[in-house]
Amino acid sequence: MLWPETRQIMTVRWPTITKDSASSKVVPNLVDYDRVRSEFSWSQARAALDGLPGGAGLNIAHEAVDRHATGARRQHVALRWLSKEGAERNYTYGDLLDQTNRFANVLTRLGIGKGDPVAVLAGRIPELYIAALGALKNRSVFMPLFSAFGPEPIEARVNIARAKVLVTTDALYQKKIEGLRRSLPSLEHVLVIGEPGSVKNLPGTRDFRALLSQADNRFTILPTDPEDMALLHFTSGTTGKPKGAIHVHQAVVAHHATARFALDFHPDDVFWCTADPGWVTGTSYGIIAPLTHGLTSIIDEAEFDAERWYKILRAEHVTVWYTAPTAIRMMMRVGLEAAKKFELPSLRVLSSVGEPLNPEAVVWGVEAFGRPFHDNWWQTETGGIMIANYPAMDIRPGSMGRPLPGVNAAIVRRTGEASVEVVETPDTEGELALSPGWPSMFRGYLSEDARYRKCFVGGYYLTGDLAKRDRDGYYWFIGRADDVIKSSGHLIGPFEVESALLEHPAVAEAGVIGKPDPVALEIVKAFVALKPGHEPTDSLRRELLGFARVRLGAAVAPKEIEFCPSIPKNRAGKIMRRLLKARELGLPEGDTSTLEAS
Ligand code: AMP
Repeated sequence: MLWPETRQIMTVRWPTITKDSASSKVVPNLVDYDRVRSEFSWSQARAALDGLPGGAGLNIAHEAVDRHATGARRQHVALRWLSKEGAERNYTYGDLLDQTNRFANVLTRLGIGKGDPVAVLAGRIPELYIAALGALKNRSVFMPLFSAFGPEPIEARVNIARAKVLVTTDALYQKKIEGLRRSLPSLEHVLVIGEPGSVKNLPGTRDFRALLSQADNRFTILPTDPEDMALLHFTSGTTGKPKGAIHVHQAVVAHHATARFALDFHPDDVFWCTADPGWVTGTSYGIIAPLTHGLTSIIDEAEFDAERWYKILRAEHVTVWYTAPTAIRMMMRVGLEAAKKFELPSLRVLSSVGEPLNPEAVVWGVEAFGRPFHDNWWQTETGGIMIANYPAMDIRPGSMGRPLPGVNAAIVRRTGEASVEVVETPDTEGELALSPGWPSMFRGYLSEDARYRKCFVGGYYLTGDLAKRDRDGYYWFIGRADDVIKSSGHLIGPFEVESALLEHPAVAEAGVIGKPDPVALEIVKAFVALKPGHEPTDSLRRELLGFARVRLGAAVAPKEIEFCPSIPKNRAGKIMRRLLKARELGLPEGDTSTLEAS
């Protein structure tokens, strides 16, 4: 089913925006796309990185921190943190070396080692970055948890991963973890980040800052196989539990190379990725890629606020800005005047990811900032950008762009359980597929081998997205092939939401869909059938909204609930979410022959 934004993208052709790099003094990294594509190899891309000293393998944290801290960039600002309250803190590469070494030593002393998952539940604070990179140094597995998750998504993810360590803040601990502690049996240590200077005695936890200050600031990274597991990112499917996508240290080759091409990183760039590190973009491009390039990366702790964002772009002289369509649409709502108030001469590259970027937003970039937004496409499983509009390329507003060097994409159609055919005809819809083999490709779903294998058919990785390719090789997004929901850039599994609603004593059945929304793309909407004896009143609706919010957190909980006598299911008992969506949109219901008699 098409998302409304997408339908518009497909039917209206907007004029091409010719290369916006012409006006920039900086020569883009990717000028001759065809030549670079034909000459590119991943082994060559690997040569842009150092590897561990003495040929001891490849470790993300070494590439991100140590090689700069022990070289010319030691005093260069790596992270510049802007607190909600207006405080600022700079971390040079030298500071990061010190802090991440300390955290790696903390983990070693706690008996946490290679392959052990270290979960981090925190807002955008420097300690999150230190914990992530320190864990990678220790060859443990960094596993971010979005701070707006409620207890249930946290419990599911920590238990699937069997995380041994949780790093969190005192506020989040008290709000979300304390009451759950007994349901998280794998956790051996909880390290709590308190307000600077205040140590709360929370039973069963240890003080992150105290441990860090007592630890040795020297650490030698042990040999790391490029195929050693490094990152665990949870994503959602239509059914079943969240899936833990496994990424390995070698992914850093793709983070580095793709940032060079798609985000056009140059050594003097000041980069701002607005994505939260609780999700894959905030890790691959919010933590890793800017550091492997030795850049200064801005971290803003606060939530979206258009005025604040413009001020940051100006005051920090941001040169490359990586953001998301929902945020761009929110800025568009605030209006052009607000954007025009701020001159942003440093801003060179505007990039966007995570959801369809409507053509108006691309063009609005030109009106507001003098440059278009460059859309790019990827997903948790791909670990890095796969398709992009490069700075030196003509932009077709509404298109995701062209595959990166080293990435082979195709549009395919399933022809059987184990086969696909490639759709050669331009502008023809099919599933977006990639030839496996790029370094940041996920290596499995944790403990879910069958689900992993199902993603590979006929020699392709099938992405679950429907798309078209035009005759010039530009890809155009159409929609998801499954029922997952994209809301404010976050992928939400309807099953997780339905399961939480079913825990309420009044709920007999629940079916959850993404309802189109002009800003967030979709909002989570639940259809609920009540048990006998319960009336579909407004107060029960409010109670259910609150019930789901407490369990799931604001990022996942439904925003709307509609009562209905029953939820349509097929004869196998599977909820027919597509039918719910069709009804919601007033579209034809399609084939309902498998509908269970209600
Ligand atoms: P996630 O794994 O949470 O990063 O979500 C990945 C999904 O977001 C993709 O499979 C797409 O459905 C969607 N997505 C990401 N980038 C884009 C884009 N540029 N245009 C359209 N959809 C996108």
